[in-house]
Amino acid sequence: MPDVFADLVGQDEAVAELRRAAGAAAAVLRAGAADRAPALIAAGAAGEAAPETGDTEPGVLDPSTGMTHAWIFTGPPGSGRSVAARAFAAALQCTYGTGCGECPGCHTTMGGTNADVRMVVPEGLSIGVGEMRALVLRAASTPSGGRWQVVVIEDADRLTEAAGNALLKAIEEPPPRTVFLLCAPSTHPDDISVTIRSRCRVVPLRQPPAAAVAEVLVRRDGIAPDVAQWAAAAAQGHVGRARRLARDPEARKRREAVLAVPRRLTGVGAAFDAASALIEAAEAEAEASVSESDATERAALETALGAGGTGRGAAGAMRGAAGQLKELEKRQKSRATRAQRDALDRALVDLAGFYRDALTMALRAPVDPVHTDTAALAGAGAQKWDAEGSLRRLEAVLACRAAIEANVKPRIAVEAMMLALWKG
Ligand SMILES: [Zn+2]
Repeated sequence: MPDVFADLVGQDEAVAELRRAAGAAAAVLRAGAADRAPALIAAGAAGEAAPETGDTEPGVLDPSTGMTHAWIFTGPPGSGRSVAARAFAAALQCTYGTGCGECPGCHTTMGGTNADVRMVVPEGLSIGVGEMRALVLRAASTPSGGRWQVVVIEDADRLTEAAGNALLKAIEEPPPRTVFLLCAPSTHPDDISVTIRSRCRVVPLRQPPAAAVAEVLVRRDGIAPDVAQWAAAAAQGHVGRARRLARDPEARKRREAVLAVPRRLTGVGAAFDAASALIEAAEAEAEASVSESDATERAALETALGAGGTGRGAAGAMRGAAGQLKELEKRQKSRATRAQRDALDRALVDLAGFYRDALTMALRAPVDPVHTDTAALAGAGAQKWDAEGSLRRLEAVLACRAAIEANVKPRIAVEAMMLALWKG
C-alpha cells in the first residue's frame, strides 16, 4: 500500500500540516511512555534540547504544538474531506512514521478495521443525538492499540442541534487520548456551530485542479489518459465522480441525459416533462444504490429475530420484532431520501456546469469548458442568450439547489427551475 496520503489529490499544504501534526502526536505518545518508564528518558532524550513547551506535562496533548484534539476538514464536495480525515486517522495510528501505509496501524485504519478508529457515516438526513451520545461514550475509552481513539464524523453539517451539543461537550473536555475529526463543506454557521468551530483546528481543502484528478485516475485506476482528462473536467474537481464517469457507462448515460435538458426545453409542456424526467432519473439512481443493502439488512434482522418461530413466547417476540422492523424501515426510508437528494444534486451540478460554460463563452473568458462534449451546444446558447441570459439560467440552477437544501419539495423546485431555464 502506498503512503496513506497518496489519494489526497492536489492538497499539498493540508498534507504537510497533517504530517506535522501526526509527528507531534507521536512525540506526545513517546513522552507519555517515557514518563511511565524513566529508563527510556535516559535512552531517548539524551542530548536532545528541551522543547519550548518544556513545562507541559509529559504525554499530554498541547495544542500549541502541531497536534490538537479536534479538527474540521472543509472543502467542496469531492475535494476529499473524508479521504483526508481517514488518512490522518491512519497517520495517528501509524507505528513507523506519519502514515507509511505499510504498518498494521495504517493498514487497519485504511481498511476500516482498526478498533480505535470509528467512521461515522450518516445514512439518514441527519445524525441524531442518541447516535452521538453512544459514540462520545465509546470514544472516551482507552485506545486498545495504545495510541489514539479517533472518531471521524463525515458530514458533520448533518448533525442535529442536540447531537451537536453532545459532541461539543466531548470536544470541550476531551479525554486525553481521543481525537475528533469532523468533515463539513465549510465553517459557515449553517454547516457547523460557532462554538464547535471555535474548539477545532480547520484544515481547508481546495477543489483539486482537473489535471491532478486526471493524473490520479491514470496512475491509480489505470484509466486511459484521454478518458481521464475528459472525466476529470466533467466532474469539476470531484475525484469520486470523475472515477465513476470514467468507469461506469450508466453514470455516463445519466450525465448525457441531464446535459440534453437545455436542448429539450422548447415550451411549457417540455419543461414539465424535463422536470419529471430529472426527478425520476434521480429516484431510479437512488433506488439502484440502496435496494441491495436494504434487502440484506432486512434479511439479517429477520434472521436475528428468528422470523417464523412458532414456539411458546413467539407471539410476544414477534411484537417486539415488528417494532424493530419498523425502526429499520424508517432508517431505510431516510437513507433512500438522502440518496435521491444526492443523485438530484449531482445532476444539478452537471447542469450548472453547462450554463457556466455558456456564460464563460459569452464573456470570452479564457477558461476551459467544464463539459467538453457539449461545448458546441453551450457556445450556441452563449450566442442566443448572451452573458446576461446565461447568468440568469445558471442562477436558476443554483437557486434550485438552494431550495432543495432548504427542504422545498424537489419536484416543485425542479419545475420552477425548468420554467426559468426555458423562459430565460
Ligand atoms: Zn504506518
